[in-house]
Amino acid sequence: MSAVKASPVDPLALAAKFQNASEKAGFTAEKFGESGNFPLVALTKRTPGPRPRIYLSAGIHGDEPAPPLALLSLIESGEFDKRAVWFICPMLNPAGLARGTRENASGTDLNRDYRHLASPEIRAHAGWLERQPNFDLAVCVHEDWEMSGFYLYELNPDGRPSLAEPMVAAVSRVCPIEPSPLIEGREARGGIIRPVLNPQEREKWPESIYLQVHHTRLSYTVETPSSLPLATRIGALRAALVTAIGIACTNPAG
Ligand SMILES: [Zn+2]
Repeated sequence: MSAVKASPVDPLALAAKFQNASEKAGFTAEKFGESGNFPLVALTKRTPGPRPRIYLSAGIHGDEPAPPLALLSLIESGEFDKRAVWFICPMLNPAGLARGTRENASGTDLNRDYRHLASPEIRAHAGWLERQPNFDLAVCVHEDWEMSGFYLYELNPDGRPSLAEPMVAAVSRVCPIEPSPLIEGREARGGIIRPVLNPQEREKWPESIYLQVHHTRLSYTVETPSSLPLATRIGALRAALVTAIGIACTNPAG
């Protein structure tokens, strides 16, 4: 059962804005699949030389408009410069965005489909990911309708230097941090969840688990509270991303 909670976004109008902004910023756009009648597009920007490879995704839940808008605003403000090689999937569920639903047009929560790849969207996305090199950092950008503060998940199986605390510190200047010791049934501290998980024991994989298994050893899922004004949510996500990117580009993982 999919409940419409967000004002629907016009995915074609938003896609046009992404195309325009990303072209100006030097990105290459690649259509890798379709969601209903909407294209699925990846944006890449490669500067030669050794640079951290950074992957960002948004818009997998159609009732979460702030994440794609935050990425658009970062493209427009020139954040994605020559410091890194960029891989961006800004709108993974355009049919859901058009309807204002978490799920896609067939009622599938795409962020639970990365183990079995049953939906055309996620099959196409996994196929695109397979053609990319591994990432030094991945961030999946979300909103949350249940929590009143910002929080994030960290998947960091090798114990690399964490970006979680600096991200939370930066976001705390923009919006409240979720104080609950239990978020989505998981232990949390200061808005940070570090799930201990064995992917093979999970029947349904979100994008973050798929990324850990196949593409990256450091990933974050950042969640801004949907109850806040849209501009604040965008500001919170921007703060988290700019902070993570800044550190990743200063201290690239060996
Ligand atoms: Zn979400």
